[in-house]
Amino acid sequence: MTTVIDCVAIGEDLMKELVKETEELKAKGITPGIATLLVGDDFGSKMYRGQVEKFCLEAGFNYFNENPPADATEDDVVEIVKKLNANPEVSGILPLRPFPEQISDTVVINSIDVNKDIDCFHPFNMGKLAMNEVTFPPATPAAVYEILERYARDVEKLDPKDFFEGAEIVVVGHSNIVGKPVAFLALNRNANTTVSHVFTSMKGNLEKHTTGADILIVAAGKADLIGPDQVKEGAIVIDVGINRVKVVDENGQPVLNDKGKQKTKTVGDVSFDAVKDKTKAITPVPGGVGSVTNRMLMKNALKACKMANGLL
Ligand code: NAP
Repeated sequence: MTTVIDCVAIGEDLMKELVKETEELKAKGITPGIATLLVGDDFGSKMYRGQVEKFCLEAGFNYFNENPPADATEDDVVEIVKKLNANPEVSGILPLRPFPEQISDTVVINSIDVNKDIDCFHPFNMGKLAMNEVTFPPATPAAVYEILERYARDVEKLDPKDFFEGAEIVVVGHSNIVGKPVAFLALNRNANTTVSHVFTSMKGNLEKHTTGADILIVAAGKADLIGPDQVKEGAIVIDVGINRVKVVDENGQPVLNDKGKQKTKTVGDVSFDAVKDKTKAITPVPGGVGSVTNRMLMKNALKACKMANGLL
């Protein structure tokens, strides 16, 4: 029988650890702080900003909200970053993208102090990640490995080192923020690492790779990309994808809500019900990797705060 990994419980555990560590720091007169930088009012970014604020409050962090208008210039935004870089109360800076088109991602990211780059966006930190000298593992990839390490220890009773070394890890997706860092972190753990992406699918080769995976990590943003035929019997499947899809009944007809609009729901990239019995362990969506991601970001902010105060 498969283990459906309880990522919500992992997130709650991590929050308890964060609260405890924050209290210890506060007893020394130090409070960690996160600043978000949202330019304009992109809906998705506003939702994420709200979550970061809520978690900061819960953990006892300071929270700083920088929200220049959508017509702010690149210079305006870089000035804000410089101000945050210089503020000792800000341990970590989180730019929320997409930025409006007049603002270059690269220019803003490159202006962030590398010691406050808590989601590993800066090329310096990404380079260190590739060289296995990680300062701040990016939050989502870090969540994937936090989940896998806890599973290795708690369920398989294995040292994570033995769990990963030589394991066949296949990553689906090669974005800069998820797929590539997930793959680097797999290599850093001495796993045999394969990265598949949209061109693998276009050549009809996705299944050839994914069915070789002991650990399959999927981050493509495509609902139902991975079905039972794409998974090896007894594999461990981590579904990073988050997709909004329309709800249909057993005849394929739309299911409507009270207002007569078609209902939608959140799903991952893996067809959970069809795949789960083939796996040894699997993460659900919702209640999966996303339940751990924000906590990893806060863990990085705590680390940045300790570094800034000479405690690490
Ligand atoms: P992204 O930038 O759109 O990247 C998606 C990746 O998947 C790309 O490398 C793309 O390849 C690849 N891909 C697309 N279609 C594919 C297919 N049919 N077969 C194989 N590969 C395919 O997205 P992202 O930012 O990496 O995020 C990926 C997913 O994770 C999204 O659903 C996002 O919402 C979710 N996410 C979840 C969390 C969390 O905490 N759970 C955090 C961040 C993101 P090409 O680049 O070659 O097109």
